[in-house]
Amino acid sequence: MAIKRVLHYGEESLRKPSKEVHKVSKKISDLIRDLFDTMYAQNGVGLAAPQIGVNLRVFVVDASTKENPMDPMVFINPKIIKKSGAVKSTEGCLSFPEAYSDVVRYKDIMVKATNEHGKTFVMEAKDGTLLARCIQHENDHLDGILFIDHCLNRFETEEILKKNNLPSIDTDRLLDEEDLKSQL
Ligand code: ZN
Repeated sequence: MAIKRVLHYGEESLRKPSKEVHKVSKKISDLIRDLFDTMYAQNGVGLAAPQIGVNLRVFVVDASTKENPMDPMVFINPKIIKKSGAVKSTEGCLSFPEAYSDVVRYKDIMVKATNEHGKTFVMEAKDGTLLARCIQHENDHLDGILFIDHCLNRFETEEILKKNNLPSIDTDRLLDEEDLKSQL
């Protein structure tokens, strides 16, 4: 289909909550292909529709590595139905070029979603794998939440954003995750 422009932090769609998809129409199939084309063009592991300016609840993931090959996956109207444990990792985002920050995520999750064929599925992602973290990161995008909202060190993250000419942290958006952080 087409490689789209990835929106950068500061652009409106990234903060807008996305709408549910009611049918896997041709429009949605085209969107899914655009997401994959754009993600692969940028060597990303995941990409959510709001990142290309479409506020619909769709994201794609390809967490394949040499050691652990996996099929690319599509998540439509995803819901994280179980979550436990905590894990710290350094995350980036295609909407934040060159900016990385330490965040805390759930270690194990169970997610329910619809795939590109309109079929509902439930899957688990455990042990804080790239897949587990990526699903949480992309799922956040559908609610206008960005990885910096989870950052462990606000001042360090602020410096990183500044260095990369990105807008500063929106302090009202910082998440209170004391329960999660206390499990680290
Ligand atoms: Zn992202």
